[in-house]
Amino acid sequence: MIDFGQLAVPGIRGLRAYDPGHDLVALRRAHPAALVELGSNENSYGASPRAQQAAAVALERLHVYPDPLGGDLKRALARHHGVGVENIVLGNGSHELLMQFAQVFAGPDDAVVASQFGFAVYALAAQAAGATLALAPAHPAEHAMPRGHDLDALLAAISSRTKLMYLANPNNPTGTWFGGEAFTAFLAAVPAQVLVVVDEAYAEYVDAADYASALPLLAAHPNLIVTRTFSKAYGLAGARVGYALAHPDCIAVMERVRESFNVNALALAAAEAALGDAVHLQAAVDGNRQQREALAAALRAWGLAVAPSQTNFLLVEFGLETARVEAELIRRGIVVRPVAGYGLADCLRITVGTAEENARLLVALGTILA
Ligand SMILES: *Cc1c(COP(=O)(O)O)cnc(C)c1O
Repeated sequence: MIDFGQLAVPGIRGLRAYDPGHDLVALRRAHPAALVELGSNENSYGASPRAQQAAAVALERLHVYPDPLGGDLKRALARHHGVGVENIVLGNGSHELLMQFAQVFAGPDDAVVASQFGFAVYALAAQAAGATLALAPAHPAEHAMPRGHDLDALLAAISSRTKLMYLANPNNPTGTWFGGEAFTAFLAAVPAQVLVVVDEAYAEYVDAADYASALPLLAAHPNLIVTRTFSKAYGLAGARVGYALAHPDCIAVMERVRESFNVNALALAAAEAALGDAVHLQAAVDGNRQQREALAAALRAWGLAVAPSQTNFLLVEFGLETARVEAELIRRGIVVRPVAGYGLADCLRITVGTAEENARLLVALGTILA
């Protein structure tokens, strides 16, 4: 027999696959038409009808390779963000790009810095690249941004071996964020050769006054990389499109490892159309904000600790009841996300649903917690 685990390169040997949560296909079968899916931070308002239409048109040319350059989408993104196409690399979801940054820039002798309770993909990316992961402690649970990124701790985790840092703003699974002024000061203190990836997967949802996207800092900081996705506020999780914005030289190196047709034709068309549908985006963002505030208020009224969130999910503390609550919710056909894998065995991450979905969740929780 071949021991494939041992045959793998060192970084892969100790690696465990990304945990996507419950087997949703099996659960959908068990709860036909009634499953409430609040486990994956998908958009409760669906994709733009214009994106669906564009994908349907692209379907007529399914036998043709997609544009390997993704030119139309890149030009639309360049206009949207006020950057050049040479500042953009497209990914099969931003997950792909997050993995590739470590693959490209961090090797066995290097360190990658991320935060405790940061998005799980950062640790996977570092480990797969064979690099050492240096985890900075997060803010404590009592902080105004419970378990959120501590920028000072992240700075302190930088060593002479650090090549790359991953920050999420806002962060998943905590929902917390850091302010624009704090980040500007942080970036000024990071050594110029250390690459800083700021994952802004939820940026479109944000309206906190102190928040600022890192995008305007790109021009002055060649070591800054910002990732975005069409999976969340744009509602295209099934299409798999994300992108990174960075210095053209950084993008050029990333292009060397990008598989030439990594974003498929349906996804390219859908993303471009979704980007052009500001009305649909705004409706999803507004609906989410309203429902998030209502859901958080209802949960807090029961005495539950709910972390502040600028995303489409809430991190909720259930303490010793967490596992039981989760199991009881599943039994009732309501999927939320256990986050024990993040070291948060006392919390559940709950995607903000539609008013109807949240009502079903609250009715079930009321019974379970009674
Ligand atoms: C959902 C999410 C992503 C996006 O993943 P895609 O591969 O673009 O679907 C990236 N980062 C964070 C923090 C996320 O929550």
